[in-house]
Amino acid sequence: MTTNSLNVNKEEIAKFEKVANQWWELTGDFKPLHQLNPLRVQFICQHISEQQTEVFGKDVIDVGCGGGILSESLAKLGANVTGIDMGTEPLNVARLHALESGLTINYEKITAEEKAQQAKGSFDIVTCMEMLEHVPDPASIVNACAQLVKPGGLVFFSTLNKNIKSYLLAILAAEKLFKIVPDGTHDHDKFIKPSQLISWAQACELKCIDASGIHYNPITENHKLIDNLDVNYILCCQKV
Ligand code: SAH
Repeated sequence: MTTNSLNVNKEEIAKFEKVANQWWELTGDFKPLHQLNPLRVQFICQHISEQQTEVFGKDVIDVGCGGGILSESLAKLGANVTGIDMGTEPLNVARLHALESGLTINYEKITAEEKAQQAKGSFDIVTCMEMLEHVPDPASIVNACAQLVKPGGLVFFSTLNKNIKSYLLAILAAEKLFKIVPDGTHDHDKFIKPSQLISWAQACELKCIDASGIHYNPITENHKLIDNLDVNYILCCQKV
């Protein structure tokens, strides 16, 4: 693993740079993210509405936004979206696609930690999806997200649990056997137990208000929220 003084794994960034041109191909390497996206948007909207408010008009930052799948969905709902990533190509793709979609999104190449210094407490909503498992120090990203959000604001994280089942399903089945995602996308060592993620969150005044598992049915290609957090899961946290 190559890291620099920033909390960035260059090999991980290179992996996403290489396939960035496929980001918006609905049946390409990012098909699982496209399929998953409506469910996470629904999860976000449900929690925003439980706060008696709506996504429209909110300042949102999407940390590790990639080609902008989630950023665009939130912009379409009327949020003012900033997307940050350390991959140049994914950001180029994201910018171009936003133009094609007629959306105004502020995409920036900057680390979450640097952005947190620049724009502390500036966002109503922070999203950090499928990104923590690709960085050297995920706790530092969690802390940056906690800095970026306003008091009372919501932070959403999604990632993969670390256990035998997640190895069998997310690595062996999804990457090696059925090739649902490209081989080498994930490193099981970088998966994160929910208890670990929740304790990192708590350490920076993010209270976990909901944790849901995400179940993928490979036959129907549908995702649904479940109670079991064994493999993919999503958290909603609120800044105290
Ligand atoms: N969040 C997006 C993309 C997930 S793919 C979505 O769910 O639709 C993971 C993304 O994290 C890639 O775009 C990759 O470039 C980015 N990434 C990895 N390490 C990063 C880091 N240290 N800082 C910012 N982005 C990073």
